[in-house]
Amino acid sequence: MEDIILKEHNVIYQTYNRLPIVVNNAEGAYIYDNNNNKYIDFLSGIAVNALGHSHPSILNAIEIQSKKYLHLSNFFYQEPQIKLAELLIQKSKLDKVFFCNSGAETTEAVIKLSRKWGWDKSKTKIIAFTGGFHGRTYGALSLMDKPKYKDKMGPYLENMVIVELNNIDHLIENVNNNTAAIILEFIQGEGGIREPNFEFVNTILELKKKYNFILIADEVQCGIGRSGDFFAYEYWGITPDVITIAKAIGGGLPLGAIIVNEELSEVWQKGNHGTTFGGNALACACGIAVIEELDKGVLENVKNVGIYFKNQLIELRKKYTDKIIDVRGRGLMLGLELSLDAQKVVDLLLDKKIIANATSVNVLRIVPPLIINKELVDVFIKSLDESLSQIKNL
Ligand SMILES: *Cc1c(COP(=O)(O)O)cnc(C)c1O
Repeated sequence: MEDIILKEHNVIYQTYNRLPIVVNNAEGAYIYDNNNNKYIDFLSGIAVNALGHSHPSILNAIEIQSKKYLHLSNFFYQEPQIKLAELLIQKSKLDKVFFCNSGAETTEAVIKLSRKWGWDKSKTKIIAFTGGFHGRTYGALSLMDKPKYKDKMGPYLENMVIVELNNIDHLIENVNNNTAAIILEFIQGEGGIREPNFEFVNTILELKKKYNFILIADEVQCGIGRSGDFFAYEYWGITPDVITIAKAIGGGLPLGAIIVNEELSEVWQKGNHGTTFGGNALACACGIAVIEELDKGVLENVKNVGIYFKNQLIELRKKYTDKIIDVRGRGLMLGLELSLDAQKVVDLLLDKKIIANATSVNVLRIVPPLIINKELVDVFIKSLDESLSQIKNL
């Protein structure tokens, strides 16, 4: 084993399953290791590097902003924050932005905000769905069902209910006047690229009319162009009351935000919520660059390449009907449900210098940089074809 990997084992808490790659540098859709191997990246730092690695616009934004100032704290007015908020409001048609640093922090923020909104109305219950992922803090974990994330670390928050995704009866049973909010990923990432169906989303909207609760779209993974729309929920033709974003919005730097509608924009008073680093100027400058590039044709690319990619996967499924159970997702957020441990395919792909990821045990998750082209998709499909043929028939 490489020296540096041994060192890592000695000093880093072993909570991650790392790929056996020591990275030297990365550019566009490529990652280069210490031994000059070149990998194609279909993971994007877990759906973070929307523009690929070392994108000139990001490097430029960093250079310009770093010469002005890095961190000031929220005691000051800062142009990068304001400009990024303007762009996010324009995209969402909502009213105000609160910046933080990560996805989990956005979940904490929306839990607090929903409960403060519901306080006078005796609404405290928050509903989330099976397979959902909202972060690793106590608030977020209270809205999640996967035992691996939660076992022996409780107790968790009260009045949190996890309803089975796409089970309308279960949903109706659990929503009432006490419901403050429902939080939903319109495309589940960690949960294995699963979507709520139209009937389910319509039922949520009907219940919302009847019981008056806040609808929160967790767009941390599926948002910022990943699905082919700027926000994944757009596909359902709805507008949520609150949107949470993180991952891709910082262009590789840590940044999160919640975007709220007008009714919710005055629930918090000064001092009710805050963070030291939230809205960090360097991260916001990169966020602006991300959105500007998406508007300059990257979003269009996601749509085109995404459709091509999914069709190629559907074709491949015809050849491996026993191994590929389902092809899911939209844009460049795709998933293959397999009849075998997806990690096995991940390992075989890695031998061919392709980086992908397994989630929910049997789902191969494909979340490449949004700038990839059809030629790279072809390389992926060919490698996947070879990998699947290497696994002996089940
Ligand atoms: C990753 C993720 C989070 C948590 O984000 P962190 O930045 O890891 O805290 C929340 N929601 C969704 C949908 C995610 O994919």
